[in-house]
Amino acid sequence: MTVNTAGSVDADTVGGNTAVGDVAAGGVAATGGRLSGRAALPPGVDSVLEVLSSSAVVLDHDDKVLRASAAARSFGLVDGDELVVGELVALARKVRRDGKVREGEIEISTSRSNGRTTSFAVRVAALGPEVGHGGLVLLLAEDQTESRRVEEVRRDFVANISHELKTPVGALALLAETVEDAVHDPEAVLRFAGRMRQEASRLTHLVQDLIMLSRIQAAEPVPDPSPIELDVVVAEALDRCREKANAHGIELAASGEHGLVIMGDEDLLVTALRNLLENAVAYSPEKTRVLVSTRRVGANTAEVSVADQGIGIPERDLERIFERFYRVDPARSRATGGTGLGLAIAKHVTQAHGGRITVWSKEGAGSTFTLRLPLRSSSSVPPDGGADHAKARPARETVK
Ligand code: ADP
Repeated sequence: MTVNTAGSVDADTVGGNTAVGDVAAGGVAATGGRLSGRAALPPGVDSVLEVLSSSAVVLDHDDKVLRASAAARSFGLVDGDELVVGELVALARKVRRDGKVREGEIEISTSRSNGRTTSFAVRVAALGPEVGHGGLVLLLAEDQTESRRVEEVRRDFVANISHELKTPVGALALLAETVEDAVHDPEAVLRFAGRMRQEASRLTHLVQDLIMLSRIQAAEPVPDPSPIELDVVVAEALDRCREKANAHGIELAASGEHGLVIMGDEDLLVTALRNLLENAVAYSPEKTRVLVSTRRVGANTAEVSVADQGIGIPERDLERIFERFYRVDPARSRATGGTGLGLAIAKHVTQAHGGRITVWSKEGAGSTFTLRLPLRSSSSVPPDGGADHAKARPARETVK
């Protein structure tokens, strides 16, 4: 096992001097100031350790492991009755000597982690009344991997937003200068003013999408779901996209089963479906068709899919297109006024409704995005069973 200290195990500067478990002091069996062997845990400590999610280890006066949680063993911190991380043992000895609580961060790579290091936040405290006389020591180690990952995603997101905002703001500043220079050329002024409007509208979309994304993320699951007719959602989303589709010479069509009802938030669902439709239109050539289909799957699930005959998505990108700001072709996305957030919004809306979103796509052939959402339990089944539907295509699907 290799142990690296990162950010150092803060041995002497941190922590107060309270010994964990003082309340249970009376329960420790002691012999001449020393603990008498392996059954000497203060009462109640076992039950506390059982409910702790972090790795917990209790060392006896000899640095032998008296108790270790399953997490501590599965991370490979403990082997038999040995605490195998030398630095943790050293820390435990200091705590045993002076009773001061120590905490810090430590990077550990165990034989079980395939050479990868795991970062733990550790807290070490004396346990029971034996402080200064070689008593029990409790070590708690919290795996920081997930919180680090979340922090990284947050940092990336902030960096991405800054970048995304900089582009239209920079363009606006430049255009304003150009307009000033062209003050005696009314035609140029008009042209540049039009470009400024475009950039301003790009900014507006971006800000709207960001607000929408944070609204949904705060509302997973949907807080006050009400019965929503999918027919209404489909009709509304189609209405909002019709102008764009007409402008691109793309036919919008709907087919499938009517009368499906789910529990949710109509605005959010319309937004998700509209995003899929807008993408279908934006990434399809003229004179093609975009089809929205609805159907019941099994007893409890409604399915809404948006199929296009557009440019398709390369297989290597399918895994990533639901990430915020991920675009297959940034220039094309920008040209179509995309914010790079449409699919992330659709994904979060679907998740907030207890559903999932999948994509099938083939370059040059088209894409189908499918939302599967739990039906409201009393939703009626029409007699035809929704047979009029897009046929299943041989597909590579990505589930989100
Ligand atoms: P954007 O605003 O760029 O469209 P999205 O999050 O909606 O952002 O989509 C992410 C990326 O996924 C797009 O930039 C595009 O490359 C790809 N994409 C999404 N929908 C389709 C589609 N129907 N056909 C082809 N590519 C698509």
